[in-house]
Amino acid sequence: MDTEEHLPKGKKWLCQRCGNCCRRPGPVIVSGKEIDKMANFLEMDPEKFLDLYVSVTPDGENLTLISKPDESCILLDGTNKCMVNDAKPDQCSGFPNTWFFEGWRDMCGAILINEDDFDQAVIERDKDK
Ligand code: SF4
Ligand code: SF4
Repeated sequence: MDTEEHLPKGKKWLCQRCGNCCRRPGPVIVSGKEIDKMANFLEMDPEKFLDLYVSVTPDGENLTLISKPDESCILLDGTNKCMVNDAKPDQCSGFPNTWFFEGWRDMCGAILINEDDFDQAVIERDKDK
């Protein structure tokens, strides 16, 4: 799928907060800056955040959020609530607009909307939460 097909000009995918991507196996790569931001959001010392929620990828190249035994993200609360929603890492906030994977549509309920309508659509989506 090329970029234009995935994300037509003037459009944007609006996440529907189903939590499926948070339950998908695979690393959530995080930077030091992102760790500080998440720790700050949780009013937690960054060292404590590292101890509780962060590990190293098998190749030793990156830091990643720990996965629970069922392979969901350790910061997933219940089925679809992210504990650091307003401070989530770029990998999470970017999907599926800035990156995606083969077969992503089978598990993601994001809706394609006009970019101009995006901010209002976010308000509508979150109004009962
Ligand atoms: S940090 Fe939040 S949005 Fe990202 S995978 Fe974990 S629970 Fe999901
Ligand atoms: S799978 Fe798609 S709709 Fe569901 S939380 Fe992830 S980005 Fe949002």
